[in-house]
Amino acid sequence: MLNHPENWHDILDQSLTTADAVARHLPVDRHRLAEICERYPLRINPYYFSLIEAPGDPIWRQVIPDAAELSDDSGCPDPLAEEPLSPVPHLIHRYPDRAVLLVSNQCAAYCRFCMRKRRVGKTASALTAVRLDAVVGYLRQQTRVRDVILSGGDPLMLETGELETILTALHGISHVEVLRIHTRIPCTLPQRITPSLVEMLRLFFPLYINVHFNHPREITAASAAACARLADAGIPLGNQSVLLKGVNDTPDVLKILFRRLLTLRARPYYLHHPDPVRGTGHFRLPIQTGLRVMAGLQGHTSGLCLPHYVIDVPGGGGKVPLLPEYIQGNDERVLRVKTYTGTVFEYPV
Ligand SMILES: *Cc1c(COP(=O)(O)O)cnc(C)c1O
Ligand code: SF4
Repeated sequence: MLNHPENWHDILDQSLTTADAVARHLPVDRHRLAEICERYPLRINPYYFSLIEAPGDPIWRQVIPDAAELSDDSGCPDPLAEEPLSPVPHLIHRYPDRAVLLVSNQCAAYCRFCMRKRRVGKTASALTAVRLDAVVGYLRQQTRVRDVILSGGDPLMLETGELETILTALHGISHVEVLRIHTRIPCTLPQRITPSLVEMLRLFFPLYINVHFNHPREITAASAAACARLADAGIPLGNQSVLLKGVNDTPDVLKILFRRLLTLRARPYYLHHPDPVRGTGHFRLPIQTGLRVMAGLQGHTSGLCLPHYVIDVPGGGGKVPLLPEYIQGNDERVLRVKTYTGTVFEYPV
């Protein structure tokens, strides 16, 4: 196992980014790994790397390249049509009242299942001042947009000052009422959640943060402390997980994850069905699995632990929530419903 320094910059500097570096620590096929990394970049920082316990475990699967990435010719690079829905570079505008701003294409660890696999870790396409001006100019005209989501890559890979510049520009748009940051860093590099970052974020309330944990083993003393710093500052935390084959595809694992997240004050928000992104086919599973997971949670644990299970419609139609079949039939007088124990009741309508 790797030891890691305390400071987040130093931790990042010691990231494993080549096949050779990984092969020094883990039993992997170095040549195959090198081939994969040419197409899809590799980065695992030593903190997240230290969570790996055994080959093929749920942490390993999320960040160690798999030969299946190169042989997968299913799906497409951009199934959600994010590029065509981009009116100005870096901005995705799919829904009338909210937009996603891609502020970074760097992450503290590159997840092999990433839905933006086409761009993360690739060219250093930074959000320059000129491009930010263009984004703000567009958003000023779009008076229906009331919620802007910073995403990437990972927004918290930016320096605190860079992030502050972006938040200041968005905060200055009068119809933008709410800002959101979507980040995996409280999970993959919790040391980044410094007091000075949190102090800066407090200037931009109402600000919501959605974190991204996929497995109970990602919840450590360090990641719990990072979430506590954000929550103590008054930032509401949600969690988005991706349902991943071989990582978290059972009700038992997700029940533990969601319960622990509640103790971190991060409320499960979405459970994403994996998108048909090329190079991620080995993580995909049937919708039935997701429905079974949801049926295993509803009623069996706190309602606060229940995320929406969503698919994102290819082509850019947006997210659609899916629920297990609770309605067994209905007529003018009664609705027949199945409860969490499987018993069917008649409910008068
Ligand atoms: C998911 C998403 C959003 C945010 O959706 P919410 O349901 O409000 O969380 C906004 N824009 C795009 C393009 C998205 O994919
Ligand atoms: S942190 Fe998010 S954007 Fe970055 S690789 Fe993982 S899933 Fe993709």
